[in-house]
Amino acid sequence: MKKLTPNGAFRKLAAIYDAMVSRYVESAQVIGLTCDDCAENCCLTFFQHHTYVEWAYLWEGLAALPPERLEAVRQRAHEYVEQAREALSRGLRPRVMCPLNLDREQGLCGLYDHRLMICRMHGVPNELVRPDGRRVSFPGCQRCQGLTEGLRAGGHAVPVVDRTPLYKELAALEMRFVGANLRRLPKVDHTIAEMIVLGPPRLK
Ligand code: SF4
Ligand code: SF4
Repeated sequence: MKKLTPNGAFRKLAAIYDAMVSRYVESAQVIGLTCDDCAENCCLTFFQHHTYVEWAYLWEGLAALPPERLEAVRQRAHEYVEQAREALSRGLRPRVMCPLNLDREQGLCGLYDHRLMICRMHGVPNELVRPDGRRVSFPGCQRCQGLTEGLRAGGHAVPVVDRTPLYKELAALEMRFVGANLRRLPKVDHTIAEMIVLGPPRLK
């Protein structure tokens, strides 16, 4: 399979992200979910991410930030990694604000167009059939779970976004982006903060 240029891969990734957002919006509308005045900022949730192509795209966005802003993000990323390590060493799930959430008061993403897959899907119920056939279900965020309980109690169906086709597209894109080295490279299993601290991914 022909290897993609970074720009070609980023265009395809942006299209996958757009498809995710459309499905999210359709589902959120049916459920009645909005993020307005949400007290539970999901940018505090501990997530790890698993593709080189998303990591590289994140860095495409980071590289375009003004130098002083990038430095502030880097500093926060280092703090995040330390705090997360400390929580994990005590057997706790870290709850630290993502270093890209630049306006902690408002809870706004500082790199919205480059945010990763899970940032776009977290709120609504979704499911995924893994390559080994295992089906994994995610109930959506706390606010969403409250709304879906109400829908079910009223006898209404709750939409569940099937992430599987998008996940397959992302996996195929990862292969075309990294190329034959993918089998030899370490598995990606990083928080956004780790991706920032480590710098852009090395693909050789
Ligand atoms: S996705 Fe859910 S938890 Fe996250 S900000 Fe929106 S309503 Fe709040
Ligand atoms: S990348 Fe943006 S949306 Fe995702 S966790 Fe960080 S601040 Fe939140």
